[in-house]
Amino acid sequence: MALIVQKYGGTSVANLDQIRKVAERVIKVYTAGNDVVVVLSAMAGVTDSLIQLAHQITNDPSRRELDVLLATGEQTTVSLLSIMLESMGFPAISLLGHQAEIVTNRAFGRARIAEIRADRIRELLSQRKIVAVAGFQGRDQQGNITTLGRGGSDTSAVALAAALKADVCEIFTDVDGVYTTDPSLCKNARKLDKIYYDEMLEMASLGAKVLQIRAVEFAKKFNVPVHVRSSFIEEEGTMVVEEEEDMERLVVSGVTYSKDEARITLSKVPDKPGIASRIFTTIAEAGIIVDMIIQNTRKGGLTDLTFTVPKSDYPRAMAIQKDVAESIGAEHVIGDEHIAKVSVIGVGMRSHSGVAAKMFTVLAKENINIMMISTSEIKISCVIEEKYTELAVRVLHHAFGLDA
Ligand code: ADP
Ligand code: ASP
Ligand code: MG
Repeated sequence: MALIVQKYGGTSVANLDQIRKVAERVIKVYTAGNDVVVVLSAMAGVTDSLIQLAHQITNDPSRRELDVLLATGEQTTVSLLSIMLESMGFPAISLLGHQAEIVTNRAFGRARIAEIRADRIRELLSQRKIVAVAGFQGRDQQGNITTLGRGGSDTSAVALAAALKADVCEIFTDVDGVYTTDPSLCKNARKLDKIYYDEMLEMASLGAKVLQIRAVEFAKKFNVPVHVRSSFIEEEGTMVVEEEEDMERLVVSGVTYSKDEARITLSKVPDKPGIASRIFTTIAEAGIIVDMIIQNTRKGGLTDLTFTVPKSDYPRAMAIQKDVAESIGAEHVIGDEHIAKVSVIGVGMRSHSGVAAKMFTVLAKENINIMMISTSEIKISCVIEEKYTELAVRVLHHAFGLDA
């Protein structure tokens, strides 16, 4: 007998037929004698529609109220699943984030889980109840409803699995595992049987939305085995696991892309101490996260500074930088929203040279210009024009030997 946490994403609970299939799958595991906690997302498209509704009232809805609104999506699906399970003759109970005592900080819209007091869930499991927990939501210390950021149900599931010391956390989704790249973009993407936490962390942070990055952080920290698999077929998916010494790996194990950033350049900035500090302090004070930064030196004591910010913060960042540019005497500010970041990832890069050179050569052959570069021990990212995203992913996937 095991304790199993299963998470079903939006497409897996998109309508009552799907919810019935989820119930059947849960019952199978339950009747085999296991304890089951089910974490659900909102029905596909519901979170987006709720955001749109709020934005029909104002461009800038209160973050607290937006979280109260968004939490209704998951409230709907957990209650429907419990009703479904009971109607099929099985004991079930739904819990919202606060009832499951998922305590977060107060960062509405991107709250972080601070603590899960899983006593109530444990008690319900000991009564042989199937517990359906609303994903994506929690409460702060004062009891306000918070949400964990888009894709946050993954994190709810893995965090609950960690708190309950579950034997496995199964992430059921619309693909049958983690692939070498997004299978919806590249038909040669190949399913991985296993991926290491560190690689999955990079993949998630660099655009592979199959798992939310915080979920992978929890999995790694608490050593939760995560199994990413299909809601629609029975086959095994991908295990996300700790790194093993002796496993033979390709140097590059995945390619990702993200279109979620925009680029800002301050040109002809006076090249003297304190200027970069001025530019980035104002951005930080606005709570905007900067990703890549490059500086080019010009003649005559001038420099150009380019950096990227999340697209959602781009209008605000541009407005702030126009003021900064004026106050520091920079000539102008240029923005570009039509960029993409493509990355190659693999723990094998730690012991191999030449990956960056190969990546640049492959992109050059297709005449794709590289605007920015950043590297870490196990990844290389290049910013390119957005319109070349698919081409870049495809040729890199091929060049690094990942094609199926
Ligand atoms: P859910 O609603 O179940 O949480 P998501 O849409 O959040 O599902 O995540 C699954 C999607 O992630 C897939 O449909 C796929 O297009 C996308 N994806 C991106 N990169 C990858 C990858 N490397 N492997 C698998 N899926 C990926
Ligand atoms: N419903 C939320 C979203 O669409 C959370 C999730 O699906 O994981 O982002
Ligand atoms: Mg998701």
